[in-house]
Amino acid sequence: MTTIADAPFVVDVRALLGKPGAYQRLEITEPVGPDVRTEVVAVGEAQPVTAEVMLESVREGILVTGQASTVGDAVCSRCLDPVRVDLSAPLQELYAWSAQEAEVDDLGELGPHLDGELLDLRPPIRDGLILEMPLAPLCDPDCPGLCPQCGVRLADDPSHVHESSDPRWAALSALKNDLLDEQADAPKEN
Ligand SMILES: [Zn+2]
Ligand SMILES: [Zn+2]
Repeated sequence: MTTIADAPFVVDVRALLGKPGAYQRLEITEPVGPDVRTEVVAVGEAQPVTAEVMLESVREGILVTGQASTVGDAVCSRCLDPVRVDLSAPLQELYAWSAQEAEVDDLGELGPHLDGELLDLRPPIRDGLILEMPLAPLCDPDCPGLCPQCGVRLADDPSHVHESSDPRWAALSALKNDLLDEQADAPKEN
């Protein structure tokens, strides 16, 4: 049976219970697990995320501050080349001592709270990373994108032009049509 203690980014905060003012610094690097993605950027399940956090015992519970960082995969929104996106999210979350003491939001959802002696850092890490994900990642801020006429990546071929009115293209196009006609007329070889 798996318990919450086996899940990534679940930490034991026993040392901080009932000790206002006590604090603990942690650095954890673990695979982030599923669902850290938007339509545009995805952090692979096995991709490590590093969380550097300070846990402070305060009157209302445990205050977590710090940051989470990792790398996501995306494609350039202009040229569709794969891009790696550095993600670094600030973390700040107050965990109530128990579910009974947790705040309830307008939708009736319980706010962050301890589960016994365990604190699950993953929800704010996931939410924070998703907030940092760009809507339109670029391989380069100056990426010229793709040729609207033929789809060639313009960064690979900056001098690329089409002169659609060029008579040579018209001649080529006529030749191509002739060839296609010939193929259509040719008898099938068996
Ligand atoms: Zn690009
Ligand atoms: Zn083109």
